Amino acid sequence: MLVRLHRSLRTRLLLAHLAVIAVGVVTLFLATLALGPTLFDRVMGHMMGPGDGMMGGMMGGMQQTTTQAFQTAMLQALGFSTAAAAVAALAVSILVSARIVTPLQRLLAASRRIAAGQYAERVPVEGQDELAALAAQFNTMAEELETAERRRVALIGDVAHELRTPLATIEGYTEGLLDGVVAPTTETWALVHDEVRRLRRLVQDLQDLSRAEAHQLSLHWQPVAPGDLVEQAMGRMGSQFADQGIHLTYTPAPHLPLVQADPDRVIQVLINLLGNAVRYTPAGGTVRVEVEAGLAGVTFRVADTGIGIAPEHLPHLFERFYRVDRARARALGGSGVGLTIAKALVEAHGGRIWATSAGLGQGATFAFTLPVAT
Ligand code: ADP
Repeated sequence: MLVRLHRSLRTRLLLAHLAVIAVGVVTLFLATLALGPTLFDRVMGHMMGPGDGMMGGMMGGMQQTTTQAFQTAMLQALGFSTAAAAVAALAVSILVSARIVTPLQRLLAASRRIAAGQYAERVPVEGQDELAALAAQFNTMAEELETAERRRVALIGDVAHELRTPLATIEGYTEGLLDGVVAPTTETWALVHDEVRRLRRLVQDLQDLSRAEAHQLSLHWQPVAPGDLVEQAMGRMGSQFADQGIHLTYTPAPHLPLVQADPDRVIQVLINLLGNAVRYTPAGGTVRVEVEAGLAGVTFRVADTGIGIAPEHLPHLFERFYRVDRARARALGGSGVGLTIAKALVEAHGGRIWATSAGLGQGATFAFTLPVAT
């Protein structure tokens, strides 16, 4: 206890203040003792003027007695004022220490509670000094931790939910097969296989997402022509568009600069956007791919004439497992993290991704930017 008290900031501040007071008092004493009598004698000498003979002797004796009386009075006065000054300084020092130590103690207690998992912990921000800035910064950090924790819990819930549906379907079919209620036809096996594929895609997407969000992706940067990226992605998706009776168009813009990117990752983003476009556009619709150069780099756009998106959903599309229509998205085979992965990949390139739509039934446009190769 004694050791803790000795080491505490409050005690150290108090001791530092006391040391300042002690040095001040000793200096005051020494200076007064050294200068006081000489100055006093000089003043007395001026007052009495030059003296000689008996008168002079009497005056000399009187001056000596007065000097002694003055010294005693001066020492007493110094003693009292030192005691008064020390008490006043001590009181001020305690107040100042409290002003500094109390917020720090609050921060210490709050950080201990956060470390123990109480993420809602915040500290009051008082004043405008460095301690207030520290408290404000601490609150920001606590808020970030709370959000991260909330997202972590939500992610576990979402993943469990996503796994439950295909697993329940597989369980249902296999039980039916075992009991002989479901016929072991090719269609049955195809349904089971579909659900297994869905599970595998979900696991793959989650792995991609965790790598992208943990910035563990190794990007193989190189200067590439934007048109090549679009054509490769379109080549891989073309048959799906043909099967669904959706027109896919791309008119290459002239004089496009090269972009600095990992081609495989950009193609992955484009395939994801094209996959969504084909999923959410009815037969007979059109999907247009456009690329243009601007101040922010090269912008890629995938615009469809599909079901569109209501304005209130637009800001959330890139969140994990966010779906405008859960049942519909699942039925169409989406894992719910496609756009989250696309966002992480584009941001890993230093770009930006966003969605626009004039509303339900008005089609949707997804766009992203990539830096120009220097
Ligand atoms: P999913 O795998 O469910 O498609 P995404 O992350 O790719 O997940 O997309 C999230 C949601 O955004 C989708 O469920 C859908 O509601 C909406 N969305 C994405 N692309 C489009 C589009 N082209 N048109 C309309 N809605 C879209």
